[in-house]
Amino acid sequence: MTPQQADLVEQLIAVGRKAVAAGLVIGSGGNLSAREPGSDACVVTCSGSWLDELRPEDFTLVAIADGAVRDGHPKPSSEAMLHLATYRVRADVNAVIHLHPQTSVLLDALGKPIRLLTIDHAYYVREVRSTPFIQSGTPELAEAGAAAVADGCNCVILGHHGCSVLGETVELAHKRAANLEEAARATLTMLQLGDTTTACPPEYLARVRAGEGSV
Ligand SMILES: [Zn+2]
Repeated sequence: MTPQQADLVEQLIAVGRKAVAAGLVIGSGGNLSAREPGSDACVVTCSGSWLDELRPEDFTLVAIADGAVRDGHPKPSSEAMLHLATYRVRADVNAVIHLHPQTSVLLDALGKPIRLLTIDHAYYVREVRSTPFIQSGTPELAEAGAAAVADGCNCVILGHHGCSVLGETVELAHKRAANLEEAARATLTMLQLGDTTTACPPEYLARVRAGEGSV
């Protein structure tokens, strides 16, 4: 691996540890990947790894076009196809974070939209899509997850399973994933209080979706 790829691995190791600590996933679920901008390969966590115990040797360098293993661990994650399909449709994306955030998945399964309440939710998440339940680790799930984000959306809930969250950088994808689950937790609290409508002011949401606004 190149020094740049080794640096991306270090960033993903930190994200895995923080994501488990924040309750965004139980350690043995989920997988992470990143690529150098413009590269035809990405680093992805290997099969069976625990996200809070990742080591550099737990990553595989795979070709984005066909999933061929180029370096590192010989067995990439069973969900690597989701990452590769996403990179193929999104040249602007350099990190894909697949986690199993409980509240996001719960609300989606109940048919309750995740509402963006704060300016952080709106700025980082912007929009949430979802796919129906599709067996994990299949080409069908990979294609559905990629199709859901092909037009620029960065957060998709995979029904009864988890999320796939994208970013131009590892840091941005991580912030998006954290804000997605925080928005879901806020939505659940609002529903428990009997509120079904409150959300971030629509004018602010329109501004961030147009590429403006800040937090
Ligand atoms: Zn999963």
